[in-house]
Amino acid sequence: MPDPLIGLEFDELRTTMGADQPAYRTRQVYEAIYRQNVPDLVQISTLPRATREHLAGHYETGHPRIAQRFESADGTRRYLLRLADGKTVEAVWMPEPDRDTICLSTQVGCPVDCKFCLTALLGLERNLTAGEIVGQVLTLTRDNAASPGRRLNLVMMGMGEPLLNLPNVLKATRLLCDPQGMAIPERRITVSTAGVIPKIAELGQAPVRPKLAISLNASTEESRRELMPITRKYHLADLIEVCRAYPLRPWERLTFEYVLLRGVNDADADARRVVRLLAHLKAKVNLLALNPGPGIAFETPDPERVLAFQAIVARSMPCFIRKPRGLDIFAACGQLKRSA
Ligand code: SAH
Repeated sequence: MPDPLIGLEFDELRTTMGADQPAYRTRQVYEAIYRQNVPDLVQISTLPRATREHLAGHYETGHPRIAQRFESADGTRRYLLRLADGKTVEAVWMPEPDRDTICLSTQVGCPVDCKFCLTALLGLERNLTAGEIVGQVLTLTRDNAASPGRRLNLVMMGMGEPLLNLPNVLKATRLLCDPQGMAIPERRITVSTAGVIPKIAELGQAPVRPKLAISLNASTEESRRELMPITRKYHLADLIEVCRAYPLRPWERLTFEYVLLRGVNDADADARRVVRLLAHLKAKVNLLALNPGPGIAFETPDPERVLAFQAIVARSMPCFIRKPRGLDIFAACGQLKRSA
């Protein structure tokens, strides 16, 4: 099977193309892949025919293939994408008047086992490569004919725990941000973690890195332990401590996500505890009322409860209610499970 070129950084591409090729040829191929998003290597019209055919004979772009596409009444599109080894992941396209957002997967399945999330039921199959992460962006922007000047936000909030695949997440981020390539600003990319504490510290040291979002989802150690078993290993107090030490850039704030589950973590007392937990952080809170799913043993709170929770948190820090996108096609947070 030909090797994929998507996922190679400039120097790797240079080596791949051979030392006898001048650097500007590598530049042409790099731009064709990441900037022009060519679907096929034979279409790189700037290359001499022999080089083009040599490349196309040994390599492929490596775009994930669209196995299925589901259209929501709200404009959201959920994609089932097939990777080179036949495994599949999901990615979600969310258009808005002034921008588009893509929700990316970072693993096939997920090992973290949060009790309210459908992806957890899959378990982990494998990590995605950097090329498979970047490839989701290339496949979805092409399928939606996104114009190059349009604002694009990326959230690594699809299937998987990104910080358990940190080297590939960081390599993908460098590729996505490279001004010579896709040129997406760092501040338009967000990575979300269930709270893998040592990896949060490591992420903070990366020269090119996405913004950080943390799935808090509970206001006490006990409740978090039940909902998110990862807390047995990575305790809530240590999570807040690593956040306190996190080297935020001047324009940056930590985002905390909080899934509201009726009668479980949605009381006024929970909201007040969230405020106390985050009091000394430069933080904002995104609330998500549970998106239901088969096999998920929780219920969605009433809108009034969500508003009351928000009102308490919003007295102390920015707090927003995230409106679910693509609920009717199982595209919303926690609903990705790789099937029809
Ligand atoms: N593993 C990472 C990336 C996934 S992000 C993480 O946990 O952060 C997915 C986001 O959706 C998380 O904030 C999670 O708390 C939220 N989520 C999961 N299941 C959900 C559900 N059923 N309804 C609403 N939000 C959910």
